[in-house]
Amino acid sequence: MTGTHSPDIPFGRPWITEEDRRAVAEVLEGPILTHGPHGRAFEAEFGAFVGDGPHCVSVSSCMAALHLAYLHFGIGAGDDVIVPAQTHAATVHAVEWVGARPVFVDCDPATGNLTADRIAAAITPNTKVISVVHFVGIPCEMPAIMALAERHDLKVVEDCALAVGARWEGKHVGLFGDVGCFSFYPVKHITTGEGGMIVSRHRAVAEEIARLRAFGVDRSHIERDLPGMYDVLALGLNYRMSEMQAALGRAQLRRVEENLARRRSNFRALREALIDLRGIRVIDAICRDAESSHYCLSVVLEGSLGKRRNDIVTRLNAAGVGTSVYYPQPVPRMSYYRGKYGYDPGRFPGASEISDRSIALPVGPHVNSEEIEYMARTFRGVIEKARQ
Ligand SMILES: *Cc1c(COP(=O)(O)O)cnc(C)c1O
Repeated sequence: MTGTHSPDIPFGRPWITEEDRRAVAEVLEGPILTHGPHGRAFEAEFGAFVGDGPHCVSVSSCMAALHLAYLHFGIGAGDDVIVPAQTHAATVHAVEWVGARPVFVDCDPATGNLTADRIAAAITPNTKVISVVHFVGIPCEMPAIMALAERHDLKVVEDCALAVGARWEGKHVGLFGDVGCFSFYPVKHITTGEGGMIVSRHRAVAEEIARLRAFGVDRSHIERDLPGMYDVLALGLNYRMSEMQAALGRAQLRRVEENLARRRSNFRALREALIDLRGIRVIDAICRDAESSHYCLSVVLEGSLGKRRNDIVTRLNAAGVGTSVYYPQPVPRMSYYRGKYGYDPGRFPGASEISDRSIALPVGPHVNSEEIEYMARTFRGVIEKARQ
C-alpha cells in the first residue's frame, strides 16, 4: 500500500493458476468430458486429503449433495429434520425438496454453531435427521452431537460447504456424520466453478448416492459389457460433475495446504490486530479441540455500534475493503420460509445477532499481509469514527 493507488481487496477471489488453466484445457483435448478418470481421481484424492479412508462422490454442487443425501435416506413427508437457523438457504432447501419439515434451531452466538444441548431440546418423535453446518469453517462439537444422534437413532448430515480443512481433535469434519457435503463454488476454499463432494464412511451409502447422482443407472459406461446397455434401478437425477471441473478440482487440491496455511496466518494476524478494539467481538472456535478452516473473519458489532453496521460496511467498501455477511438473514426469516412457517422473527436471537450485526472480512489466499494490516487499520479507523 504505497498510497499512490487505492487498494481493492475483494471479499473473495478464486485462486486460479496457470496449472489450473492447463488442467482444464487438457481435458478439452481428449474425448471424455464427463464421468471419466478425472472424476474418479478427484474423488480418491479428496478422500486422501480428508483422511480416514472415506468413500467420496463428486457432484454438481453442495446443494445437490444435500438433496441426494435426503433422497438416499428416504426422508420425506411427515419427517422432521433439525437444521440451523444461521446457514445458507441450500441447507434447508434440500430438506424442503424432499417434502420433510425443517425444524430450525438457534445457534450459539459465540461460534455461529448448533450445540448438542440446543439440538436435544428440538428433537420430536418425527425427527429423522440432524443437519449441522460448520459455520464459516468453525467445527461443531461433533462427538457430543454424534452421541445424541446415536441415543435417538438419528442420521447426521454435515454441511461442510465452508469447512475444507476444518477438524475436531484432528479428525476432518464430514467424517463424523453419515455423510458430509462440500462445496466448490468460486469463493469457497477450493473451486471447480460449480461443484461439490459427498464423503461417507459407509461404502453402501456412497454407492447408492453415486447411482442417484447419475439417473439411477446400474453401471457407468466403463462398467458396461455392451456399449449403451444399462438398467435403471432408482429415480435418480443428473447431478454429475464434468471432467473439466474435476480436473480443476484436482489442480486446486494440490495447493490446498498452502491455501489453508495462508488463511490461518491471515486470520490470526487480523484477529490479533482487532481483538482489543472496544465494542466488537470475533466469531471464533471456542475450544482447543476445534481447528477452523478460516473461511473469513466475522466480527460482531456490539451495543449501539451494531445499529450502524450497514453504514460501517459502506465506509469499509469505499476504502477498498471488501466485505460480506454470513448469512444475510436467518433462514426462517427469509420470505419463503417466513411465509410458509410463520416463525416469529424474534425467535432466533443468536442467528439474528450474527445476520444483523456482523461483518465478514476476507482472509483468503488472495489477501497478503500488507493488505491485512491495511484492513485492520481501516477497520479501526471506521469504528472510531462510527463511535463519535
Ligand atoms: C455456499 C453454501 C452452500 C451451497 O453450496 P453450492 O455448492 O453453491 O450449492 C450450502 N451450505 C452452506 C453452509 C454454504 O455456505
